[in-house]
Amino acid sequence: MAVEQLLILIKPDGVKKSLTGNILTKLSEARMVIIGSKTVKVSRELAEKHYWQLKDKPFFPELLDYIQGKIFGGAPWDRVLAFVYQGEDAIARMRKIAGATNPEEADPISIRGAYGRITTKGVYENVVHCSSEISEAEREIKLWFKPEEIVYNIYPTKEITIENKKETAWA
Ligand code: UDP
Ligand code: MG
Repeated sequence: MAVEQLLILIKPDGVKKSLTGNILTKLSEARMVIIGSKTVKVSRELAEKHYWQLKDKPFFPELLDYIQGKIFGGAPWDRVLAFVYQGEDAIARMRKIAGATNPEEADPISIRGAYGRITTKGVYENVVHCSSEISEAEREIKLWFKPEEIVYNIYPTKEITIENKKETAWA
């Protein structure tokens, strides 16, 4: 079996419900390593890019509001925790721990089965995102993380020079 990487997000409902510890505990049962982690305030652009495959679905506007935490009133619930996990057969194993997309159909022991719900607007608030296949995982990891934010170069990189680039530093 091959070593794989994938993106896991603790979505705004997971953050708001203070489920971070519970979710990471369930994920740790798979004995995988975290090779990147950060808190991300989710812009409209990032939300649209992340869920581009669902752009024609009727629930797409609500899905963008959900992943941006807008349905929870914005700050401080306008963010997600993002992780890159690595391990043997990681995608299938983590998807199993995450559970089915619809929390009502998910195994009750899975993260989504235990903590998810369906809102009155019909959105599945399922507390985590979990990449579902290798090409999707690569696209998502590259969307959410820069090479320097992951402890290994899991994909080929290139050196680029950006002229006149302003950066914010600690004062
Ligand atoms: N979603 C939803 N209703 C649906 C299908 C999906 O609200 O009928 C939401 C749900 O939050 C899900 C996300 O859209 O996690 C992405 O959908 P996808 O089919 O990719 O499911 P996932 O890969 O997250 O299990
Ligand atoms: Mg998906």
